Amino acid sequence: MIPLRPNISAMKGYIPGFQPADETEYIKLNTNENPYPPSPNVVAAILAELGADGGALRKYPSASSRKLREVAGELYGFDPSWIVMANGSDEVLNNLIRAFAGEGEEIGYIHPSYSYYSTLAEIQGARVRSFFLSHSYRIEDFPDFYTGKLFFLTTPNSPLGFAFPINYVAELAGRMKGMLVVDEAYADFADSNALELVKKYENVVVTRTLSKSYSLAGMRLGLAIARPEVIAALDKIRDHYHLDRLAQAACVAALEDQEYIRDHIRQICETREWFTAELAKLGYDVIPSKGNFVFATPPDRDGKRVYEGLSGRKILARHFTDPLLVNGLRISIGTREEMETTLRVVREIG
Ligand code: PMP
Repeated sequence: MIPLRPNISAMKGYIPGFQPADETEYIKLNTNENPYPPSPNVVAAILAELGADGGALRKYPSASSRKLREVAGELYGFDPSWIVMANGSDEVLNNLIRAFAGEGEEIGYIHPSYSYYSTLAEIQGARVRSFFLSHSYRIEDFPDFYTGKLFFLTTPNSPLGFAFPINYVAELAGRMKGMLVVDEAYADFADSNALELVKKYENVVVTRTLSKSYSLAGMRLGLAIARPEVIAALDKIRDHYHLDRLAQAACVAALEDQEYIRDHIRQICETREWFTAELAKLGYDVIPSKGNFVFATPPDRDGKRVYEGLSGRKILARHFTDPLLVNGLRISIGTREEMETTLRVVREIG
């Protein structure tokens, strides 16, 4: 017998959305990627960093991601000491658990939300407690004072798409001693965010990703914003060279080209609103979304049937077997053209 830790033997591991071998064959609407390419400045910055012979790759990257923290700090209105970069926001979610929840200690999250939180807790040996949502999208049975070490609040929520009002997020921060991790992977597609709460509450951390709004899922870039004491702890835990040189160059160029992403965010949001209205005309129940995806339930409540019908026509969406989600499916928002094709197929499937 290989002497694994029992919790590692027992756990299943996270199953990411399907990535087909030949991506060009599909309209890929299953992992909330951005349909538009990243800023041309990103490509130029990567090529410049690489140079003609790739010589820069001989050397280690900046261990502190200094320039990235400065640029991110400027963008979000924080001193760089309040920011830690990450190899995708997944990395920083992992390190937050490592920093705050020891073996047997509790972390909380909402079900449904991002299922990776529970995987990370299982690795750590932390206990998980999940909370359901009420009909009005508040946390059901949230205690007057929550005593877990960490609570993950995904807003906008994935897979459902709704966002919590900021005053509710603030209220939750005041109702716990542990850290409130506001996972804002999709906040660039929403009309509000919790950044101001990081300044007001010492137990609030906001996490962001460049995978969605910046079209950089393939570069693995994310960040967290929190008090310098929290950032210093996360700095101790992370791998020292966690971001490679090309990712660092790409990140700076992407964050500095706000005009470029603003335009694409606007297009994605417009397409989202149009697609939501069209599905509703077909009798679908669509939750108004603040992300770059929608969660839609067909009139016959057979999400799997629609998912399979779409897959058969090379359109990938995401269907979850969880009983709370099984009736619907999550569809990422692609280009207007991709969504017109998707709608046509949805009509044909009936
Ligand atoms: N949080 C949420 C809510 C997500 O949906 C995702 C993407 N699957 C992530 C975090 C992780 O994103 P990334 O590691 O690509 O930054």
